[in-house]
Amino acid sequence: MERKRLLREGASAAVVLLLLVGCGPGGALTVRLRPDVKRPNPAVVLFICDGMSVDLLDQGCAAGWLPNLQKRFVAGGLTVEHAVTCVPSITYGVLTTYATGLTPATHGVLANQWFDRRLRLWREYGVIRHYRAVNGDFCAPTIYERIQPGVSVSIQNAVHRGVTKNVANWAQSGVRWFFHDYTAVDKLTATTLEYVAGWANRNGEWPELLVCYFPGLDSIGHVCGVESRRYRDALGHIDYQVGRVCDWLEAEGLLETSTLVLVADHGMVPVRDDGVIDLAQYLRDELDRRVTESPFQDAPFEDRYRHFERFDTVLAKSANRFAAIHFRGKLGWDDPLEPEAVRAILEASPDGRRLWDHAGVDLVVYATGNREVALRSPRGAARVVERPGARGPEYRYVPVPDDVLGYLGDAELASFVSKGFHSWREWLQATRGQTYPDVVPHLVPLLRHPRSGDVVLFAAHGYSFAREKSGHGGVHRDEMRIPMMFAGPGIAAGGSLDVARAVDLAPTILAMLGCELPEDGSLEGVSLLPALTAQAVSRTRKP
Ligand SMILES: [Zn+2]
Repeated sequence: MERKRLLREGASAAVVLLLLVGCGPGGALTVRLRPDVKRPNPAVVLFICDGMSVDLLDQGCAAGWLPNLQKRFVAGGLTVEHAVTCVPSITYGVLTTYATGLTPATHGVLANQWFDRRLRLWREYGVIRHYRAVNGDFCAPTIYERIQPGVSVSIQNAVHRGVTKNVANWAQSGVRWFFHDYTAVDKLTATTLEYVAGWANRNGEWPELLVCYFPGLDSIGHVCGVESRRYRDALGHIDYQVGRVCDWLEAEGLLETSTLVLVADHGMVPVRDDGVIDLAQYLRDELDRRVTESPFQDAPFEDRYRHFERFDTVLAKSANRFAAIHFRGKLGWDDPLEPEAVRAILEASPDGRRLWDHAGVDLVVYATGNREVALRSPRGAARVVERPGARGPEYRYVPVPDDVLGYLGDAELASFVSKGFHSWREWLQATRGQTYPDVVPHLVPLLRHPRSGDVVLFAAHGYSFAREKSGHGGVHRDEMRIPMMFAGPGIAAGGSLDVARAVDLAPTILAMLGCELPEDGSLEGVSLLPALTAQAVSRTRKP
């Protein structure tokens, strides 16, 4: 029934989309802004390219097959060498981070799917009816709300609460269902600029903040693989579409006052043909649990309450290298488990085959206290501990008995680890080149959030919790590292910045737009603007 309805919606969406975008990659955008349209100064244009691999981006720019990104951002702007996304590295969580300046563990949109035991609500954003629900699932103010009455426009970005004009992304799901023509969706994002220009002509004002979201590349990564020819071609296609937008902005004189920002929400990890791990089957067969792994969100509370009473385990997977497992307490879902009880369940397998003994499981993380988590992996066991610091929480990685994160092989990092507690920014700096960059400070807050459940799992490189060619959601550098590039007035062309975190984007954009940044802790990142405009940036990009 649900599928039929979606197919029907998908059909009409796909037809409308094809009429709108036509065939081919699209020519130059032709609508002109009227001369009397107010052009805000400063302005920001943000490109979010879902699932863009930073390694392939570097390759393509160096080899000349991404000419627009090379010209506009690498040669013409500034590149962050080590930009790192959130944990988990999953679209809806990161898009909400870009909108709020908060990590998923703070804003609460943990992933594309999550279960909230208190509400008996299992949210899944990957369906037409619910993708917009994300805007009601977090309370923190968005950048669109913070710049009001400044005008903003969002194209295809699901997370847009408070935006002046939202141009919806129904097409994403519609086309997915029908033609699997994902690059057409990315073309639509660029072509929509003509509609935005018409809207600005009627409104008399070009937006201060324009967000262009490209969803197609990620879908191709999941279906065809990040190492496939089709993924590479889709990246080339995004380069072309970003070029169309930038050329139009330039022709309209808007580049003189606009800063261009390009990011992805996560990278992608290839999955081997034999790399699928069936977690539900493990939980049923080995741990004897009554498991549900199906979203349930279209029913009133009483029905959801009754539904979840039938299970003692909820398994919510996202993107598909992240999974959160929730265990029902003795008295029901309102009765949370003590850490000891969680550990007892995980170690209960009769033949001693624990979750973390599987080669495809990278990390199993569960809380052992309010400020402490255990890390289990085929590489052994370790801990992360949190303590309050003068300028926010500090974290310590305890590689005892085992160096699960592999940090001790690097002498400098081993010395850093041995010194104990550090702030998240110090961890980012110290682990930026590692296989697991910037992971330590995320884990304790993540496990403290009720929507992350009692246990979270990250798949090992080459593995996934569902059948797909590539995925993300884990903590490996291939999915944690993201492109982050800036170009515009006052930003050194050809420059680079050492490190940044996804959570820095919102304060940076707010600072670019001249907003005063609140010092009440309602933004977790820092503005990169002073570093971007400093003359001291290095002029050469490392290979
Ligand atoms: Zn994504």
